[in-house]
Amino acid sequence: MKREVIGALSISNELINRYPWLPSLKTIYKDIGEKPPTEFISEIFSNNNSVQIANRVLKIFEAAFNNMEEIPDYTIDNLNVHVYLLLKIILYALNNKVITNRAANLYSKNAYNDMERENSISNIYEICHDLDLKINFYDPPEPIGLKIIKDNREKLKANFSIHYIDYLKLASNLRDEHRKLTNKVLINGHVFVQNKTLIRLIQEYVRNKLLSEETDDKASLKAFINEASKIQGFKELYDKILILWEKRKEEFDFTFKLDISSKEEMVLLLPPCVIEILKKAEEGQNLVHHERLYIVWLLLALEYPVEYVVSIFSIIPDFDREKTTYQVEYAKRKNYTPYQCSTLKSLGLCMADKYKDELCLTGYGSQDPSERKKLKHPLGYVRIKKYRSDKGEYLAKRELEESEKPNE
Ligand code: SF4
Repeated sequence: MKREVIGALSISNELINRYPWLPSLKTIYKDIGEKPPTEFISEIFSNNNSVQIANRVLKIFEAAFNNMEEIPDYTIDNLNVHVYLLLKIILYALNNKVITNRAANLYSKNAYNDMERENSISNIYEICHDLDLKINFYDPPEPIGLKIIKDNREKLKANFSIHYIDYLKLASNLRDEHRKLTNKVLINGHVFVQNKTLIRLIQEYVRNKLLSEETDDKASLKAFINEASKIQGFKELYDKILILWEKRKEEFDFTFKLDISSKEEMVLLLPPCVIEILKKAEEGQNLVHHERLYIVWLLLALEYPVEYVVSIFSIIPDFDREKTTYQVEYAKRKNYTPYQCSTLKSLGLCMADKYKDELCLTGYGSQDPSERKKLKHPLGYVRIKKYRSDKGEYLAKRELEESEKPNE
């Protein structure tokens, strides 16, 4: 039996309280939606639940700064809408890319977990409808192929198919191999997706909604913060978040440097293609499949501990600690060789031009450009840099010893 979303369905208040990022928030809570932000803030902090709302928002930031994978004590009630809107306003006021990424990843992961726990598939259907996705629902689910792992053969079925334009819109930042349209069952312009995939796509929608709070208009931002800070409760909450961030900021800025310093300041020896991926992971951006494989294989080849490699992925949107640990341990057992430069170039992951890196661009071995050798492997980059740094230290030490010798 197939149901197709064609007409307008009204969404319940309960669903909006649970998922306040849904577009119908604007119509159901029209009174809130039409208010200027400072008026909304003023009302929140003059109402009896203001302490509760502020504490819940603060918890989201605490959890995001502490790298948690779910919001602790997350409650679904009618205050949830206020919590969500206040969160958005504070992200706008903070206007900090790293904070926004972390909060957006955490909040969207929380939404994913909630949707996964949904025992009513019709709620997922209502969510898709509210998001204006062109979607078909199948009951019973349609068979879409077989998943074969060693001797195990699992029949794959899908309850949903989504119009390919909507699929591409939602999946545009998820460039993993298995999400490519060519790897999906596509019939009459509709992509068949399993529930988990559909929910993951919706998670990406939620994440992008929060990311959109960043602004370049510094003057309006300053005026807004001045105005909002006149509201005592808001100022207290905003200041608390800033204090929390000040305490943790350094850790975030130096996450990689700190850990890597125990490995002889290895970060200074890493090639641009690795630095670029580490930066993306640190900002909580999605990593494509090849970026994930490459960074894992390379860091393992440099003998980084499994826990360290896993922690690199901890703030990216679809992080699952158990799964990632299993995959990194598996890669360690298999002892894979990291991609060489030519492969990285063909995958678009070589960053030599972007970073204008001399070793990558001009090679090594001789002053004479015609005799210089081309760099072939990122591990070669690390070895050469290490050699140069050791040699530099040795020469500097000798120079110091020479200068300290008494004159004869
Ligand atoms: S030349 Fe090789 S080591 Fe350098 S950035 Fe490109 S792929 Fe990485």
